[in-house]
Amino acid sequence: MAGITEEARPGSLPPELDDPLFRTALGQLDGALVHAAVPSAVAEVLRFPERTLSVSVPVRRDDGSVDVFPGYRVQHSSVLGPTKGGIRYDPGVTLGECAALAMWMTWKCALLRLPYGGAKGGVRCDPRSLAPDERERLTRRFTSELLPIIGPQRDIPAPDMATDEQTMAWMMDTYSMQVGYAVPEIVTGKPLSVGGSVLRPEATGIGVVIVVEEAVRRLGWSLAGATCVVQGYGKVGGVAAHELALRDAKVVAVSDIAGGVYRAEGLNLGDVDRWRAEHGDLAGYPGAAPVTNAELLELPCDVLVLAATEDQLTATNAPRLAARLIAEGANGPTSLEADDILSDRNIPVLPDILTNAGGVAVSYFEWVQDIQRLFWGRDEIRTRLADLMRDALVRVWALAEDESLSLRRAALVTSIREVADALGARGIYP
Ligand code: NAD
Repeated sequence: MAGITEEARPGSLPPELDDPLFRTALGQLDGALVHAAVPSAVAEVLRFPERTLSVSVPVRRDDGSVDVFPGYRVQHSSVLGPTKGGIRYDPGVTLGECAALAMWMTWKCALLRLPYGGAKGGVRCDPRSLAPDERERLTRRFTSELLPIIGPQRDIPAPDMATDEQTMAWMMDTYSMQVGYAVPEIVTGKPLSVGGSVLRPEATGIGVVIVVEEAVRRLGWSLAGATCVVQGYGKVGGVAAHELALRDAKVVAVSDIAGGVYRAEGLNLGDVDRWRAEHGDLAGYPGAAPVTNAELLELPCDVLVLAATEDQLTATNAPRLAARLIAEGANGPTSLEADDILSDRNIPVLPDILTNAGGVAVSYFEWVQDIQRLFWGRDEIRTRLADLMRDALVRVWALAEDESLSLRRAALVTSIREVADALGARGIYP
């Protein structure tokens, strides 16, 4: 192999994917492969995305000038079905970041036994600098650039950072205009008026608490009376806090980017919601003591729900955490070093690919309803969601016990085996 550069060797990381987040995803995969016992050819295929697309998205600004933004879509694996994953608008979007997030989507879908592979995409832009009409033109042009590789049986986008129901409605409309008829099943996370699903907005937060409740039961205690701290009072954390309170847990602290509030006797969440609706964030809320986000993470509690952003638990704060159980509502909130420290301290961590999978589960229900043109009620969706989440938790818990693995490692191994079984059965084409 003399004269062949490192990047050109089979199995080495291609330079366009050389990104810290993709290296983390590969590191996690390699660690789990040691336990997964899947054929090496299958493991090799799973290390890289099946397909990547880089596009340039020209956008006419409101003042008549034109800016061109880089956009990406990465499909990690279509072994189990069409690929599924969000679209984000963020200045940090890179091909490598999308590749990492696409791989995690593959594991999340496989863990829940959804008939999907993983994908992720986005446009590198500052979403706050886009006026509403510019945002619409960017979305429609980006969707047009994706047309060769997306489709209701190929790749189904969804909202992610700085994209929302409206973005999905524009994507759905752009795709539908190209084919000549309405195709609601091309995206999920749409408004109800164009084929969205009830319970989709709340699904991730509800799913978090279903997993926590089942885990707590297995640990031999109950949520009733348990003290809970929730970092991030947004779409995931806000719903999770209310779901915990519905189960008679005592939510003693919550936070947003402006800081947190703490009341040992339990917060009045209705009151907290009214304050946020009026003032925009939690700062200055008079019904509880202020705490910083750093302090909030170290409060003594039974359950700590992380629902803000990545990299919150680190080698610095992990030795000081005083929670009995940690639930990852956010993606990637725990560093690899913190994970090891918590494992040594016997504090179980319910991993993100399991705990926050309620969103993609109800996205799957939305897609199924759209294809059938037959819509379900809230109760049916809630029951189906709870069944999927509990079933996944039971499998992960059993593997963790049987093979003495952390819950994170067990979740990843479970997912990898699901995909590997399918890939083994299908074979490597041709
Ligand atoms: P959101 O924007 O609705 O809420 C995020 C909350 O976290 C806000 O209250 C914000 O103020 C707070 N926050 C942000 N940065 C913070 C920081 N550094 N410290 C403390 N608080 C901070 O977002 P969301 O949809 O609730 O997503 C939260 C996390 O859950 C993200 O990691 C996201 O990727 C993940 N997630 C969301 C969904 C979903 O369906 N929304 C699904 C799966 C995973």
